[in-house]
Amino acid sequence: MFAQFALHERLLKAVAELNFTEPTPVQQAAIPPALEGRDLRVTAQTGSGKTAAFVLPLLNRLMGDALPRVTIRALILLPTRELAQQTLKEVERFSQFTFIKSGMITGGEDFKVQAAMLRKVPDILIGTPGRLLEHLNAGTLKLNDVEVLILDEADRMLDMGFSEDVQRLGKECANRQQTMLFSATSGGNGLREMVASVLREPVHLKLNSVSELNEGTRQQIITADHNYHKERLVEWLLANETYQKAIIFTNTRVQADRLWGKLVAAEHKVYVLHGEKDQKDRKLAIDRIKQGGAKVLVATDVAARGLDVDGMDLVINFDMPRSGDDYVHRIGRTGRAGGEGLAISLITHSDWSLMSSIERYLKQRFERRNIKDLKGIYQGPKNLKASGKPVGPKKKKVDKKDAKKPGAKAAAPKRKPTARPNNAPSAVVSQDGLAPLKRKKPAAE
Ligand code: AMP
Repeated sequence: MFAQFALHERLLKAVAELNFTEPTPVQQAAIPPALEGRDLRVTAQTGSGKTAAFVLPLLNRLMGDALPRVTIRALILLPTRELAQQTLKEVERFSQFTFIKSGMITGGEDFKVQAAMLRKVPDILIGTPGRLLEHLNAGTLKLNDVEVLILDEADRMLDMGFSEDVQRLGKECANRQQTMLFSATSGGNGLREMVASVLREPVHLKLNSVSELNEGTRQQIITADHNYHKERLVEWLLANETYQKAIIFTNTRVQADRLWGKLVAAEHKVYVLHGEKDQKDRKLAIDRIKQGGAKVLVATDVAARGLDVDGMDLVINFDMPRSGDDYVHRIGRTGRAGGEGLAISLITHSDWSLMSSIERYLKQRFERRNIKDLKGIYQGPKNLKASGKPVGPKKKKVDKKDAKKPGAKAAAPKRKPTARPNNAPSAVVSQDGLAPLKRKKPAAE
């Protein structure tokens, strides 16, 4: 029950209006210390309800001593435009029965229009670091009366190279009374430095050790021989899985475009998001997916940051993400706020060791799955130990005398050549030995 928190009744009314009945674990843990005015450091995944965990205490504070609107009283920093838009929406929904006004500043929008908005002085300003700094430098933004500073997805802001910008904006909010920092992962040294420099004696709330992530999401792998095989697996999955919306991750723009082309040719309604798409294309893609006009999105990690689309219940890793944290971020798009989700990673021989290191990092073993119609040659390394680690060939004892000879080595075991290089061009794949793709068949695996 939200009534357990000492929140203003107009906020409780908004919460009820939104049909939030039970607080999520992060809200349960963060709202009380936030209401006391403590600094917070919270590790919680996207989709855990963390936005309300900081927005409600923030609004409560601003309502407590409503001042005439002459200064910006709170700053919320986020890594991407989409996340800023979503957060603005959330703030507006919670503040609908109050007089609190919010504004948003991100790149890709008209600077003068933004400057005009800033002249009206919103109580809460939400934005991405780069453009905020431009306004600061142009003299169109003043932050010295900010009381509360919130850094959301701080780990992502660091990954995206915003460290210095965030530090500078933090310094501009020199008179703040409270700072809250949220990140999806526990981050590395960079995050620790940021925590030390912006927070004062924070309460540290760790809501998700990575091993507990996404309980509602099944995680599977399917082995593949090469990229063309992966493309056929994607088509099969899109045609045969039950899902509301799917997101397919690739590691490169080129692969994203290529897969998008293939899926369009196969008559899927699909959009692609990557760093080279301009703001208009991004908006169109996200709107269509949100409204349900299309249900498949192909994206790179950077392009998908901060994306929050309801009903995204299938994630396919066409390429394996480069780190465990990236995996957590990708998979965090499914099973949001308790929903069910399915995450499938497509694994060639060159993805295997990365995949198993992510399994170790997450302390999870992904379910192995085969699709009968599209079973390839590669099935994972042979001779797996119980641990899942491949057993290497036994080292031949080298005669000490031989070992001293320059260039002497133990006889290298003969390796079978792989069926096809991972990035085999499509021109050669018609002879790949895979059965023709059957679509719309009941899931026969
Ligand atoms: P967030 O992690 O803040 O991006 O929230 C993920 C989604 O969960 C958003 O669509 C929220 O509106 C929703 N949500 C957050 N808290 C609750 C709650 N207590 N009850 C139901 N839905 C919630």
